[in-house]
Amino acid sequence: MNILLLGSGGRESAFAWKISQSPKCDNLFIAPGNAGTGQYGTNVNLHFTDFDGIKAFALANDIKMVLVGPEEPLVKGIHDFFLADEQLKGIPVIGPQQHAAQLEGSKDFSKAFMQRNGVPTAASQTFTRDTLQEGFAYLATAGLPVVLKADGLAAGKGVLICTTLEEAQLELTEMLTEAKFGEASSKVVIEQFLQGIELSVFVMTDGNSYKVLPEAKDYKRIGEGDTGLNTGGMGSVSPVHFADAAFMQKVEEKVIIPTVEGLKKEGIPYKGFIFIGLMNTNGEPWVIEYNCRMGDPETESVMPRIESDFVDLLLGVAEGNLIEKELIISNKTAATVVCVAGGYPGEYLKDKTISGIENVRDSHVFHAGTTLVGEDIKAVGGRVLAVTSLQDNMFDALQQATADAARIYYDGVYFRKDIGFDLL
Ligand code: AMP
Repeated sequence: MNILLLGSGGRESAFAWKISQSPKCDNLFIAPGNAGTGQYGTNVNLHFTDFDGIKAFALANDIKMVLVGPEEPLVKGIHDFFLADEQLKGIPVIGPQQHAAQLEGSKDFSKAFMQRNGVPTAASQTFTRDTLQEGFAYLATAGLPVVLKADGLAAGKGVLICTTLEEAQLELTEMLTEAKFGEASSKVVIEQFLQGIELSVFVMTDGNSYKVLPEAKDYKRIGEGDTGLNTGGMGSVSPVHFADAAFMQKVEEKVIIPTVEGLKKEGIPYKGFIFIGLMNTNGEPWVIEYNCRMGDPETESVMPRIESDFVDLLLGVAEGNLIEKELIISNKTAATVVCVAGGYPGEYLKDKTISGIENVRDSHVFHAGTTLVGEDIKAVGGRVLAVTSLQDNMFDALQQATADAARIYYDGVYFRKDIGFDLL
C-alpha cells in the first residue's frame, strides 16, 4: 500500500524509518519531510495544513492511509476533511477528528473530560475575562505554587508555574485581559501544582481496544541539570525504570481504561495515538495533559523499541481490529540526544552546513530541522537532529547516543550531555 505521512520533524523521521521497514508499505510519501526523510521514502513539497493540496496528492498517488505526525492538522480537522469528502472518505486517517483533538487543543475540554471520567488529575477551575475576579478569589485559596494554563495551543509556552500570589494575579490578568498568549489565553485553567517525576505514556487505539506503546521520559529544558528555558525537547529515554509493572498497571487501570472507555461512552470516535503526560506522585499516576499525537523526541526512542510491523499496527487502528494485532517490545534501552541550533530556544542560527553524520558509529540519526541545498545538508530549524542509540542497557545507550551526537558538527551545534544520566 501507499502511505502518506504528514510532518517534517524528528518524530516523522522516526515514523518514516519504521514504516519503511514494513513489507506492507509499497511507497511512502512524506509531506513535507526534511533532508533525512528522503532515505525512507519520497518527500512531497506540500505543507501539512494544505488540505486541498493533500487531497489532490492522495488521489493522484493511490494513497491508502494517511498518518498525521503533528497536532496542528488534527486540531484543524484533517480527519473530518477526509470523512466529509466523497473521494477521500475511504482513505483512513490515523489521528483523531477535530472534536477529540480538543483533548490537546483545549485544556478546559481535557480537564472536564478527565473529571467526568474519573481520570486522576490536579484540581482545577477555568476562568475567562468576565470571571477574572472569581479567578482571583480561586487563586487566594489555591495554595502555592499554582499552575496557570492557557486553554488553547500556545506552541508549548502557555503553562506558567507561579510561586507567589502576586505573580499569579499578574499573569492571570495578562493572560485574560491582554491576550498574553493571543486567543489561546482567552480562557485560563488554574490548576493545583503536582510534585513528582514526569513520564510520557503512549496509547494506540482504534476507538475500541488499545495497545500501550513503550513509555518514555523526555527532557524539556535547554540546560544541563534541567535548567534554563523550555524547549520542544532536548532528549528522551525509553524505558523508564520507575514505570515498573506495578506502576504501569495503575496507569492502565486508573488512566488508560477510563480514558478509552470515556471516549466510547461519550460517543467520541478516536483512531490514533493518545499521548498521556503523567506525574508520578509517590507511586500514583496523575494526568498533566493529553496530546492527540505522539511526542517528539519521545517517538525517536519509542519506535526503535517496537519490534512488530508498525504498518500492521496502523492497519489495526484503521480497520478497527487492533485487538488482533501483536505488539512486541524490545527489552533494550533507547536514548535520544537532540542537537539544536546555536541560540535555540531564542533567536537561533540558520543555514549552517552539517557535517559528520557519517562518523556516527552506533546510533540512528533522525533528521528534524534540516533541508537539502544541492549536496549540502543545512540546519534550518531549532531542533536539528535527533541521535538515537538502542543498546542492551541504559548506560550504554546514553553513552553511545551522547558520544555519537558529539561526532556531528555545524556552526553553533549544541546538545545536552546529561540526557538520561539522572535515571542511572
Ligand atoms: P503541559 O503543556 O500541560 O504539558 O505543561 C507543560 C509542563 O508544565 C509539564 O510538562 C509540567 O512539567 C508542567 N506542569 C503542567 N501542569 C503541572 C502541574 N499541575 N503540576 C506541576 N507541573 C505541571
